[in-house]
Amino acid sequence: MQTINDIDFKDKKALIRVDFNVPLNENLEVTDATRIEAAKPSIIKVLEDGGSCVLMSHLGRPSGKEDKFSLKHIVAKASEVLGVQVKFVEDCVGDIATDAVNQLGPGQILLLENLRFYSEEKEGNVDFAKQLSENGDIYVNDAFGTAHRAHASTAVIAQFFPDQKCFGYLLASEIENVNKVLKDGKSPITAVIGGAKVSSKITIIENILDKIDHLIIGGGMAFTFVKAQGGNIGNSLVEEDKQDLALEILSKAAAKNVSVHLPIDSVIANEFSNDAETNVSPINEIPDGWMGLDAGPESNKKFAEVVLNSETILWNGPVGVFEMPNFSKGTIHIGNAIAQSTEDGAFSLVGGGDSVAAVKQFNLSDKVSYVSTGGGAMLEMLEGKILPGIETMLA
Ligand code: AMP
Repeated sequence: MQTINDIDFKDKKALIRVDFNVPLNENLEVTDATRIEAAKPSIIKVLEDGGSCVLMSHLGRPSGKEDKFSLKHIVAKASEVLGVQVKFVEDCVGDIATDAVNQLGPGQILLLENLRFYSEEKEGNVDFAKQLSENGDIYVNDAFGTAHRAHASTAVIAQFFPDQKCFGYLLASEIENVNKVLKDGKSPITAVIGGAKVSSKITIIENILDKIDHLIIGGGMAFTFVKAQGGNIGNSLVEEDKQDLALEILSKAAAKNVSVHLPIDSVIANEFSNDAETNVSPINEIPDGWMGLDAGPESNKKFAEVVLNSETILWNGPVGVFEMPNFSKGTIHIGNAIAQSTEDGAFSLVGGGDSVAAVKQFNLSDKVSYVSTGGGAMLEMLEGKILPGIETMLA
């Protein structure tokens, strides 16, 4: 499979699937341009080669053509971020799209209208994918955020570019970084898995057990494990029907020589509120009427020690209710330990869901090795699934 660096885009039109699904405020202004910035290197590479870019993306979840979901609202911000005036066409297929593409010259960028104005996009319709494919000479997939969807523009379209296709820099680096943990990770490899529910993390845990040496289980999901082992967890979050599964994970981990680290203690509260009364309790002796909302000081110490002795770290999910300042200390503590370990030479990947938000909130993004840009897509990669947007490119 060729990379974007192998292709000379001179006088070529690159049809790039980007993820410009950015947040807009009530005035329809872009409030966070991270995703546009993430696509910039691939776009600049094409322009510097002397080619042109036809960008296609979705925005939100429109039902049919809805003005508030038009990509025209992001043209000004995209032009500012990319440093080139972005042209816009009010359709992604048909005569007006074809005319706009034909008029595009080297060094120029054209943004097509929201792909999801057509239901055929999400349906993965082959005819629609074929029409889209006529908008460019070379297909570049750089939309990691939608790589887990088998949509027309993310997967189906690749068949119309048998030799003229490649991943963009962003998608390539997401794959490369996940492989640095799951394929070529240096031991000791530690996974820190937190968050609310065992049920949403079970497939990840099962997939990574063969690859890791240490598993830190934190956050709300830890209480299902503690209860399954006979502990008193008071009113803490629990999935009663997942207790057997929790015990199964523990015995599978033991069979594979993976050391599992559950919290030793917890910061407990008498209600689910930042203003609640708080105390610290051993993890298995939480009184009735109280709930564990953060990792306690002994757990923080133990978790940090494991992380500091690791060469490779995967972090998915906070170890407490980090959105509330009084229960954010455990997540900050483990985030700082991962940052320290990274400074000492470890490779650290933060991916999938709320740990990415935590890393941003606590200004740790630059102190870990890689922060994934795709929530659902990264979760599915960690679950061991082959993403449709990647698979069809390799076919
Ligand atoms: P997830 O999306 O599964 O990674 O879960 C993240 C959510 O888990 C965050 O919103 C946290 O507030 C929540 N969480 C973490 N620890 C706890 C806890 N001990 N009790 C309740 N919710 C928690």
